[in-house]
Amino acid sequence: MTALAVLAARLRAELGADRVVSDRQELRTYECDGLAHYQVIPGLVVLPRDAGECARTVRGCVAAGVPFVARGSGTGLSGGALPHAEGVLIVTSKMRAIVEVAPADERAVVEPGVINLHVTRAATPHGYYYAPDPSSQQICSIGGNVAENSGGAHCLKYGFTTHHVTGAQVVTPDGELVELGGRAPDTPGYDLLGAFVGSEGTLGIATRVTVKLTRLPESVRTLLAAFATTDQAGAATSAIIAAGVVPAAVEMMDALAIEAAEAAVACGYPAGAGAVLIVELDGPAAEVEAQFDQVTALCEAGGAFELRIAADAAERALFWKGRKSAFAAVGRISPDYIVQDGVIPRTALPEVLHRIGEVARSHGVRVANVFHAGDGNLHPLVLFDEGVPGQAERAEEVSGAIIDLCIEYGGSITGEHGVGMDKAKYMPRMFTDDDLDTMHLLRCAFDPAGLANPGKIFPTPRLCGEVPRVHKAGEPAAAELF
Ligand SMILES: Cc1cc2nc3c(=O)[nH]c(=O)nc-3n(C[C@H](O)[C@H](O)[C@H](O)COP(=O)(O)OP(=O)(O)OC[C@H]3O[C@@H](n4cnc5c(N)ncnc54)[C@H](O)[C@@H]3O)c2cc1C
Repeated sequence: MTALAVLAARLRAELGADRVVSDRQELRTYECDGLAHYQVIPGLVVLPRDAGECARTVRGCVAAGVPFVARGSGTGLSGGALPHAEGVLIVTSKMRAIVEVAPADERAVVEPGVINLHVTRAATPHGYYYAPDPSSQQICSIGGNVAENSGGAHCLKYGFTTHHVTGAQVVTPDGELVELGGRAPDTPGYDLLGAFVGSEGTLGIATRVTVKLTRLPESVRTLLAAFATTDQAGAATSAIIAAGVVPAAVEMMDALAIEAAEAAVACGYPAGAGAVLIVELDGPAAEVEAQFDQVTALCEAGGAFELRIAADAAERALFWKGRKSAFAAVGRISPDYIVQDGVIPRTALPEVLHRIGEVARSHGVRVANVFHAGDGNLHPLVLFDEGVPGQAERAEEVSGAIIDLCIEYGGSITGEHGVGMDKAKYMPRMFTDDDLDTMHLLRCAFDPAGLANPGKIFPTPRLCGEVPRVHKAGEPAAAELF
């Protein structure tokens, strides 16, 4: 029997047969995440019901020397939850309990498979909500959000997942159940929770998460501003922030993204716009009113040719419908597309958008831009047709060139979708060997056996202790540290 078959028998005996999937057809359900062009059929799938079962599964993997990969809802866009063919995929979809909503503490405690939006639904009757709002919030899990340190439109004002997680119960890669952080805003000692958030399933599996709840704002006002060019919209974004206003969200869509959204959801954005901005302000009513006038004036001064102010919740929802549907909407105007994710300083937006346009034209492909303009988090959608010889390769080149632009302008290779499988190859473009070695030391401290989500984040798999460089005299080698 193979190690995997022995493990499957052990897990069936310990957890029950219904927790373990080994039928090849059923396994195919899990062969990819949101980045569907990477596909690997997992060796085995386990669906634990609670933290104890999750820990037993990991301990089984350790005993068998089998790698494991955590999966929440599988909406990730960097191949982070791509299974291992000889490994176990640990899926948290049966762990969906909202354990506690504690408005007086402004905390909620949830299991990792809980859907992001369900936390807000549970908190709303108490006057609270969960602020990080990825566009996938109707389907993605809190465990996935923690692992990716996910962002969203409203993270400009409220911060990313890491700013809203105060504690996590974690199964370590050797199968121990530990608590990182807690309910308090901070805990003494090394910030292990900070290291865990954004670690993409490489430092263990979150089995319970304590998140901050945010008070529902007294007032929300939303503005749709149409500009002739992305230059104008980018400059208006910078002007708003420079004026000291921090909107809850500033989102931009260019002409191609608007065309796609219109085709998909008929959002009725102003005709002829080269770019639209959705600017949302929230907070105390008096402050929102004053700042809204300021933002309106800045958009007008920046050349907006049409301003629409949402009259009610329905109109606000319509403004957002176009934006939130944009990724899927490009399917209406192109048979295939790559969703890129990178960050640049906000002030570089006009210049970088021009350069993206130049690269796209020189490669004969189109790029639609829809993104979190307020924090410079670009999401260029590189459109192509797999059926046209050479176009997929050219689209891939454009996608890589966009990442190079982000680095050139002082940004990052990912804003919120993570490194996963897809961007591991770009890590050396942004980090030196020493940087990567240091990150690897941290990974090895949690996972010396290298069983937790191997092959992700780092460009070249290494064994712990294997540091491919010349060491300075007196410096301990990694192997001596663990
Ligand atoms: C249409 C669309 C829009 C999107 N918009 C946004 C957006 O606005 N902002 C944004 O940030 N992302 C966005 N995403 C990407 C994706 O939704 C997020 O990365 C999300 O956090 C992934 O959650 P998931 O439950 O689907 O995780 P999965 O895809 O299942 O897994 C993602 C990673 O998390 C790890 N993981 C999962 N659960 C755990 C756990 N319990 N413990 C440890 N590791 C775990 C996996 O191993 C993997 O590395 C979007 C995706 C789509 C398809």
